Amino acid sequence: MPETIAAPAPANLIAGEWSPSATNRTYERVNPWRPTETVGQFPSSSAEDVAAAVHAAEQARREWAGLPAAKRCAFLTDAATRIEARVEEIAQDMTREMGKPVRESRMEAARAAAIFRFFSGEGWRPVGEVFEQSLTGATVHTRRRPVGVVALITPWNFPAAIPAWKTAPALAYGNTVVLKLAQDAPLTGLHLARALQEAGLPDGVMNVVIGRGSEVGDPLVTDEQVRAISFTGSVQVGQGVREHAMRLGKRVQLELGGHNPLIVAADANLDAAVQAAYAGAFWSAGQKCTATRRMFVHESVYDDFRSRLLTRIEAGHIGDPSDPHTEVGPIVNQRQFEDVLAGIERGRREGGTVLAGGERADPEAYLVAPTLFEGVGDGDFLSCEEVFGPVTSLYRYRTLDEVIERANAVRFGLSASIFTRGLATAERFVNELEAGILHVNSQTAGADVHVPFGGTKGSGYGPHEQGRAAIEFYTEEIAVYRDV
Ligand code: NAD
Repeated sequence: MPETIAAPAPANLIAGEWSPSATNRTYERVNPWRPTETVGQFPSSSAEDVAAAVHAAEQARREWAGLPAAKRCAFLTDAATRIEARVEEIAQDMTREMGKPVRESRMEAARAAAIFRFFSGEGWRPVGEVFEQSLTGATVHTRRRPVGVVALITPWNFPAAIPAWKTAPALAYGNTVVLKLAQDAPLTGLHLARALQEAGLPDGVMNVVIGRGSEVGDPLVTDEQVRAISFTGSVQVGQGVREHAMRLGKRVQLELGGHNPLIVAADANLDAAVQAAYAGAFWSAGQKCTATRRMFVHESVYDDFRSRLLTRIEAGHIGDPSDPHTEVGPIVNQRQFEDVLAGIERGRREGGTVLAGGERADPEAYLVAPTLFEGVGDGDFLSCEEVFGPVTSLYRYRTLDEVIERANAVRFGLSASIFTRGLATAERFVNELEAGILHVNSQTAGADVHVPFGGTKGSGYGPHEQGRAAIEFYTEEIAVYRDV
């Protein structure tokens, strides 16, 4: 067993040193459940810190890339064991800093370790293909080379899983890393960095910078030593990152928002569909890119589904995220909280009816009650734009043709789900739904660590993440012609 690891310092990690920002500026992060409670003071970094982190990554690059993959991956195995040993501590910090209910935080912390374990296996997997040259029959083979220094820009809503699923493949395939943690949830990501550092990762191979996106993001994206940028976050910021990166000829990968539909067919198992609807729309307070934003229910079961879902909402546990029974906790910060309430108001103004929730649910916390709308038009705000909170709408449909068309009528294409017992219905959904992650008889959220993850249409750009798909982004494939 590894020794107990000290809590991470609330600092940047640059060239193996935990350091304050170059300007010594800090910011305070508060607990969204009790905003008077401070979680910590974190560095408010600037371009100077980014330059130091990129320099450290550049310095470490050749030696790291030169190690056998299995040796690189041994650091991931060691770090995974360390993360597993402190899942509870990581989960508690995650809950305190961004309000995810602890039952989900625990699963996410454990998942970060599983991601490290999956990628530690990459050291033993094939990295190329062998061909015969067409004229001579001599050998051609492909090889994978690391890209170089990669920038990983992460959001607050999966503060363990997303930094893990970017960092682990980046390191396994021989890149060095500058990880930009989200301002609203830096503590969780620092646990991962600490675990890698204690596993003995060479200095400079992984660097972490904390701070505002506007101050840290731009210098990171535009630094000429950064060869590739993997970004997860909002559409607006992601598109800006892509523009910069493409102008500078850099590799870029985006995972953005979603507007994910759940279809409940006439022959669905309604109990299962209601559970999936509740979990998909409201767990993590709807702050998942794969959360269910639209629920299309066949007219023959609409009233039944609606009343069962309202009963489920009534029975749901909302409140203190550190209580293991809580299913719906607070929104991450005041600004997002106000945005969610404004989205609800707009839904009402445009003629939607609130069947449940629709308001603040605690005088102190940024808590919004699970909110269910009905009567929202297909072209209305709530049907088209992502409100990043526990807000979802019910729609009635008649035919499969109609519902597939309506489900696809958004600019996003991240995840989608159908509940049906009919094979032919499921088959049409799988063939025609425009989304990167499809679920038959399970909720729109949720993804396995060894399976490719990513959206289509406006939800993503570039190769998928996770599983073996990650090799596409984090390596360059070259062909070697060998003649004698
Ligand atoms: P955000 O876009 O505000 O921030 C994401 C990251 O980008 C943060 O680290 C932020 O500091 C940084 N950033 C901000 N400005 C930047 C700039 N100019 N240059 C470079 N980086 C900059 O998103 P958020 O509010 O943290 O996360 C919520 C969003 O993320 C939602 O839209 C959600 O759907 C999306 N999301 C998508 C996925 C997915 O896999 N598709 C997963 C989780 C979250």
